[in-house]
Amino acid sequence: MTDTTSKDDRHKARQQKLKEQVDAKVDAAQEEKGLVLIITGNGKGKSTSGFGMVARAVGHGQQCGVGQFIKGTWDCGERNLLEQHGVQFAVMATGFTWETQNKQADTEAAQETWQQCKAMLADESLDVVLLDELTYMITYDYIDLEEVLHAIENRPAMQSVIITGRAAHRKLIEIADTVSEVRNVKHAFESGIKARKGIDW
Ligand code: ATP
Ligand code: MG
Repeated sequence: MTDTTSKDDRHKARQQKLKEQVDAKVDAAQEEKGLVLIITGNGKGKSTSGFGMVARAVGHGQQCGVGQFIKGTWDCGERNLLEQHGVQFAVMATGFTWETQNKQADTEAAQETWQQCKAMLADESLDVVLLDELTYMITYDYIDLEEVLHAIENRPAMQSVIITGRAAHRKLIEIADTVSEVRNVKHAFESGIKARKGIDW
């Protein structure tokens, strides 16, 4: 037997073993239910990931809703596209910024959007609900954490919920099925490059 052949055989045996392990895991995963997914962390890619899943669901003919906290006044590429495909949006009306001076107005705006999101989380016809940048609303105490947990836990059984934003609360992480953290390695903004349409919004 040549060296190459024995390498090939070893590779084949390893792959076969891996396939058996993966097949066993696929067989073991039998439960069907809507999921809670969280995309958190300091790197770029949280909202785009959330919207990517919504686009996926829409592509399968599923019904989706999106609640957008924070980015109310921005022109939003995803919204422009997805509304044309029947996705319903609840968008925070004020241009919330980090330098916000008016906690009262921001709380009211957050609450108004949250009420619409709560309706989505009770809507049997929605397969996927994206709550974009919700984590900050909880951090800032604009929306009550227990109320969010209750609405998520009592949603329709087959509905999936995606939450994005930095510093997701520990209790949100606890109730989630899938949690991913996007780590910042580098970001163009740090080199003084302006945010770009189509890339950043
Ligand atoms: P995206 O919407 O591009 O997926 P994101 O949801 O992960 O980004 P957010 O914290 O919601 O990130 O911020 C949105 C905006 O801030 C985007 O324009 C994004 O490019 C920018 N951004 C994200 N991460 C960073 C970072 N680490 N440094 C600077 N700007 C960032
Ligand atoms: Mg985001």
